[in-house]
Amino acid sequence: MPLRTKLEHKLLSFSERDPFAEFRDIELLNLTQTFEYRHSLGKVSKFFLALEHGKLLATRCERCNRVYMPPRAVCPKDLKPNRWLELSGLGTLESWTLCPSPISYAQTEENYILAYVRLEGTSSLFLQQLRNVDIASLQFGLKVRTVFTEQAENHPLELFWFEPL
Ligand SMILES: [Zn+2]
Repeated sequence: MPLRTKLEHKLLSFSERDPFAEFRDIELLNLTQTFEYRHSLGKVSKFFLALEHGKLLATRCERCNRVYMPPRAVCPKDLKPNRWLELSGLGTLESWTLCPSPISYAQTEENYILAYVRLEGTSSLFLQQLRNVDIASLQFGLKVRTVFTEQAENHPLELFWFEPL
C-alpha cells in the first residue's frame, strides 16, 4: 500500500512539470480527400473498351503464336507488334486465395476470392475476382466462365469477374 501512494505522487509531480501542459487538449477532425486524375490506358486501351461491350480481348504474336492475357502490344520474345483476338471467356482455375482487404481501385467486400485462370487459347494466367462460389469447394482445374456487368463505378476491371460454369 505505501508503494502505490508513492507512485501517485510521482505522476502528479510529472504533470506539474509538463512544459506542454497547456497544449494537451487535442481536437480530432474527420477529413475526406478526393483525388480525380486522368490516366491513359495506353496501347491496351482496346482491351478496356471491349469490356464495356462484354468482350474479352487478348493479343497474339504472329511469329511465335503466344497469346497474351493480359494483352501486350508487343511480343516480349520476338519484339513484334501483336494482333488482337477475342476470347471465349471460358477458362480453368489454376490458383486462388482469399483476400481480407478490399482492392484499392474497386468497391470490393472483405473476404473476396482472387483467382489465376488460364483462359482458353491463351499462353498465360489472368488474375481476377472469382465470385458466387464457396472457397471450400474450389478445386484445381475447375471450369469457369467470364461474367460481365455494366455497373463499374471505379475501374474498368470491375466490368467482369469469373465464376464456375
Ligand atoms: Zn512472339
